[in-house]
Amino acid sequence: MDGKKKTAEIIKRLGKEYPSAETTLDFGSPFEVLVATILSAQTTDAHVNRVTPALFKKYGSIRAYAEAPLEDLQKDLASINFYNNKARHIQASARMIIEKYDSEVPRTMEELVTLPGVARKTANIVLSAAFGINEGIAVDTHVKRLANRLGLTTHRDPVKIEADLMKTTPSGEWSHLSHLLIYHGRKVCKALKPDHAACVLRDICPSADIN
Ligand code: SF4
Repeated sequence: MDGKKKTAEIIKRLGKEYPSAETTLDFGSPFEVLVATILSAQTTDAHVNRVTPALFKKYGSIRAYAEAPLEDLQKDLASINFYNNKARHIQASARMIIEKYDSEVPRTMEELVTLPGVARKTANIVLSAAFGINEGIAVDTHVKRLANRLGLTTHRDPVKIEADLMKTTPSGEWSHLSHLLIYHGRKVCKALKPDHAACVLRDICPSADIN
């Protein structure tokens, strides 16, 4: 099976397993998508969702994040991994959006990756979740692991993995594929002890016998 056919088959089968696969982060505005996505690095979406309701209520605008004392923001994020840096990135991004982008979260990859703490993965999530724009494929730890196990890439570098996946996936499915792989990685193809017996992809997966 060539790469395009295999990817289409994976999307078809996982689409049936996870018909409502989409981001599990809670947010309202585009800037809240950005904040939640920055916070989600090395942290579960469930944990981020426990923290953000109070955060979004307290900081109701981009300007509020930009002008808050940094120590206050850090204190409000203290239960999140790497909260000091994440608070710095959120505040610096808020300031840059106000000063350089007329107080609007940018809608292009090129502009989004100029924001502090924002690389392609975060930018892809923001573009897709906030604006419905598919400009690439968000490669998180699950997508990285599953793309390798399924033989869709041989790379470890997320940017190279993304390029491989983009070659075999129609652009309209880019964000969908990312969500499907994330769901399957959480539920079945876990980092430790993947449940091959329960996996709908086992007959087309070259890693169906790994421990
Ligand atoms: S067969 Fe196993 S390794 Fe392959 S996708 Fe399924 S759970 Fe993962």
